[in-house]
Amino acid sequence: MKNWLRKVMAGRYGVDHLSNALITLSIILLLLSAIFKLSILNTGAMVILALSYFRIFSRNINKRYQENMKFLNFWNPIKGKWFSFKNRIKQSKTHKFFKCPSCEKQLRVPKGKGKIKISCPNCHTKFEARS
Ligand SMILES: [Zn+2]
Repeated sequence: MKNWLRKVMAGRYGVDHLSNALITLSIILLLLSAIFKLSILNTGAMVILALSYFRIFSRNINKRYQENMKFLNFWNPIKGKWFSFKNRIKQSKTHKFFKCPSCEKQLRVPKGKGKIKISCPNCHTKFEARS
C-alpha cells in the first residue's frame, strides 16, 4: 500500500501549506452549505477541492512551489498578528502594554507597580506611565 502510494506520487508535487489551506477552506464551505442550504457554496467547495488535488498531483513542481511561497508571504503576517494578539490576551492579567511615543514599538511591563519610568529598548526614549 505504501509502495503503491510512493509510485503514484513519484515526480509529483505533494501536499504543502497552500493545498492544506485549500482543503480546509473547502471543508468550511461544505459545512456552511449544509447549514445554510446554499448549493453555490457546495459547488465552490468542490472547485476548490479539485484545485487542491490538481496541485498535489501536479508534475510542475517549480510552479506549485512558487504558488506556495506567494501564499505563505500573504498568510504568515496574518498568522503572526493572530498569535501576538492571542499572546497579548494571555498576558493581559500580569502585564500592561504600551506603545513607545516616538518609535511606536509595543512595550510590555509588569502590572501593579504604580507609576513607573519606561525606557524603550528600541529607541531609548523614556516616558512615565501607570502600570
Ligand atoms: Zn521607542
